Amino acid sequence: MMPPTATIEDIKAHQERVEKDKITPDNLPPCSRCRVESAFFKVHAYRERRFLIIIEMLIKAVYSSLVRFKCPGCGKTFTHYPDFAIPHKHYTLPSITGFSASYLESDGMTYKQAVMVDSSVPGYPENNSTDAPTLSPSTLHRWITTLGRFTRTLRTALILVLQQNPISSICRDLARMIIPQRKYKTNLRKKQLTGCQQLLILEAFFQAIFKTSIFTKLAIRCAFG
Ligand SMILES: [Zn+2]
Repeated sequence: MMPPTATIEDIKAHQERVEKDKITPDNLPPCSRCRVESAFFKVHAYRERRFLIIIEMLIKAVYSSLVRFKCPGCGKTFTHYPDFAIPHKHYTLPSITGFSASYLESDGMTYKQAVMVDSSVPGYPENNSTDAPTLSPSTLHRWITTLGRFTRTLRTALILVLQQNPISSICRDLARMIIPQRKYKTNLRKKQLTGCQQLLILEAFFQAIFKTSIFTKLAIRCAFG
């Protein structure tokens, strides 16, 4: 089995779009400070960003630029994220959603087991000195926290799915979902796990209907909230 990850080609393709000025601000939400529509935003800066992808069970750093736009109304800046990235995460979206799904898919699964692929854990090449030699269970724990907070994205995606297909089984599927008690000690964690799993279930419905991921335009439009 291959570990879930964006590929080096995905990242290179994004870099090429940056270099050819193909990145537009259109999908960004209006300015959160002064409400100017994102279509009026201007390119402000390019920032190099390190992404971590997994190639043959090795974690590799690949660099690409992210475009920062500036609101002409008030000067606030906004980062554009490519399909494979979400704010504040170095690993790519397929890794974040894939390992999170594998933690949630079975009741007895632990974080330690869920970061494994075919009984080994993706790691850094030995000569690469770092204090995090492998993909750690605590990283996966944090990914679920992050995905569990996409409340506005989740709500909007659910509305869109139901508008498109009012008899969809999605509400039943979400209601039937139970987080096993051994996976949380606090209500906050239960809420994060529930939010994360709902987002992943909804993502499957959303992809089937709209042939695109919740994370490509919708999450951006919802400011990853
Ligand atoms: Zn503004």
